[in-house]
Amino acid sequence: MTSALVTGGAGFLGSHLIEALLKKGYLVYCLDNLYTGHLSNLEKVLDRIVFYKQDVQNPLPKVKVDVIFHLACPASPVHYQKDELFTINTSYFGTYNVLELAREINSEVIFTSTSEIYGDPVVHPQSESYFGNVNTLGPRSCYDEGKRAAETLCYIYHKKYAVPVKIVRIFNTYGPRMSLNDGRVVSNFIVKALRNEPLTVFGSGEQTRAFCYVDDLIEGLLRIHEYKRNFEVFNLGNDNEITVNKLAQMVIQLTGSKSHIVFNQSLEDDPFRRRPDLTKIKKAIGWEAKINLEEGLKKTIEYFRSVLTCES
Ligand code: UDP
Repeated sequence: MTSALVTGGAGFLGSHLIEALLKKGYLVYCLDNLYTGHLSNLEKVLDRIVFYKQDVQNPLPKVKVDVIFHLACPASPVHYQKDELFTINTSYFGTYNVLELAREINSEVIFTSTSEIYGDPVVHPQSESYFGNVNTLGPRSCYDEGKRAAETLCYIYHKKYAVPVKIVRIFNTYGPRMSLNDGRVVSNFIVKALRNEPLTVFGSGEQTRAFCYVDDLIEGLLRIHEYKRNFEVFNLGNDNEITVNKLAQMVIQLTGSKSHIVFNQSLEDDPFRRRPDLTKIKKAIGWEAKINLEEGLKKTIEYFRSVLTCES
């Protein structure tokens, strides 16, 4: 039986990944300190996995698995800026521990990196060969530089110890099980719209992102895992770029909300444009996102509607 360890498995992406791995017949181990993840995300599968409540910064349990999906790290700006030292330590020491374990047990590592490693890009769209434009001394640095150092660790462990590693630079992703309070734009807008409260746009709202629905992203992660190479870097996401203003209007329209839009000060170092160049993954693996923004937003709105109904 193929086995996998998922770090950060109780989080938004981790819990969806675990369900997909179980469907494929994997034996699944999950490790999470529940800093931003929730056991409720694993409700449906908890009796079918082995769960370790543990911080990835501490030495990992010596489980023998075929692959480690390393997701553990606070990932939304609000969460990763809460304790910057904790974030950068999680990135560096967590990845170090994962790579050490992989070396010892001969497993593959799928490291989930981020589009943030491109910073506020001056090249558009961003392909894997772009080195990025990152501030080392700002509110996003703990995450961006932590992930960049972790990528470098992956590269070193592959070069020095032949650990098979795939680095996946994940772009903005949304869908059911995003936290109500993680501050991301999609969840913020939907929750506010459902409550008929004003949607706050930071800055002019002309900044862009490209949003990928979670099911597409998980499919992409699995396809990258199946790709027979010992070291590779891929962007993963959806390349349909829209402005934050347009997103706000879409959410208001799709929820039928009475909310209006208000503008607030722009955030420091907020990237102005972001869109993945997906040429590499399309060519190598034939993967591309299938779910368009309207369809994905409708599913996500349904999810948040049920969460808010349960809460009230
Ligand atoms: N944003 C916004 N209102 C919000 C939350 C975010 O205008 O309530 C903007 C934010 O300034 C950024 C974009 O939406 O330009 C995406 O923010 P998010 O935190 O979702 O992810 P990021 O891509 O910045 O990590």
